[in-house]
Amino acid sequence: MALDEFGLIARYFQNVGASRHDVALGVGDDGAVLVPPPGEELVAVTDTLVEGVHFPRGSSARSVGHRALAVNLSDLAAMGAQPAWVLLALTLPAVDEPWLQEFAAGFSDLAQRHGVRLVGGDTTSGPLSVTVHALGFTRPGAHLRRAGGSPGDWLFVSGSPGDSTFGLSLEQGTASVADVDDDRTLRDRFLFPTPRVELGRRLVGVASACIDVSDGLGGDLAKLASASGCGAQIGIEYLPISGALWRNVSHDDAVRCALTGGEDFELLFSVPESRVDAVAQVVADTGVACAEIGRLESAPGVRVNRKGIVTEFSHSGFDHFRVMPTR
Ligand code: ADP
Ligand code: MG
Repeated sequence: MALDEFGLIARYFQNVGASRHDVALGVGDDGAVLVPPPGEELVAVTDTLVEGVHFPRGSSARSVGHRALAVNLSDLAAMGAQPAWVLLALTLPAVDEPWLQEFAAGFSDLAQRHGVRLVGGDTTSGPLSVTVHALGFTRPGAHLRRAGGSPGDWLFVSGSPGDSTFGLSLEQGTASVADVDDDRTLRDRFLFPTPRVELGRRLVGVASACIDVSDGLGGDLAKLASASGCGAQIGIEYLPISGALWRNVSHDDAVRCALTGGEDFELLFSVPESRVDAVAQVVADTGVACAEIGRLESAPGVRVNRKGIVTEFSHSGFDHFRVMPTR
């Protein structure tokens, strides 16, 4: 007999993530009852993944579960918040237990890793879509924003942007690479992105502005710069492109992936000159590499410097399903 909605919730979503003392009432009633730490502020985010739009049809359920949570934790990371509680609104075309098992495992593994608890949600039937709502804490006023950068501030980005978009092309079969290790690494950067939660927390008091890179480095930099009331210039030679990407696409395609590919879930942040030294300590403590890629400037817009030739960057960052050329 097919599992009914209550059986399904009890089996897959009753006990997901870390157990927390600040959950007075979790999954099972009409609402969750949560106990925020006294004096802290709540940061709330939500993000939806739709099959065929944010992940290819037939994606591994474990990856879908991981990514649905990761994209939300990444938003909290960009705010400098400590994640605590999440809710999950799941729309499923059918009750497919092996799929649910894998989905819940992907979600739960990442939730455990960040000490986050699934405290409620909704389960409906329809085309596959996953909405997560996440809540985290910051000390009063101690959050990061897109606004706050000033001309002259240095720009940094974590990790190696560009891998994820190329990994998606591999998943879609529109690109291929010969080396099996590079193939795995690049695919996993799309399938299992790492939200930079600890980095975001540590950047509070260091960064002047921060955004997570979900729609492409160039486009998201334009958002940060414009929210900060300035512009920006970055140097192509400073982009932290991974060895796996360099080895498998042309120089131009690697740069294109890094600047315009989406779904990296890295943090892009500005730091005043007086605090740049603190970034090295944050990198040492978190083990997350951060590359200095340019500076904020007073003139609006984003400019790209390639060997001394400066051009205006213009691109609508969201372009997931474009075919990536291979060498
Ligand atoms: P209601 O009919 O009052 O909306 P539901 O039957 O939808 O209640 O949900 C019952 C309980 O299960 C609630 O606590 C709800 O938060 C939780 N829940 C439902 N779906 C999910 C899900 N996908 N993940 C986590 N909790 C869920
Ligand atoms: Mg309901």
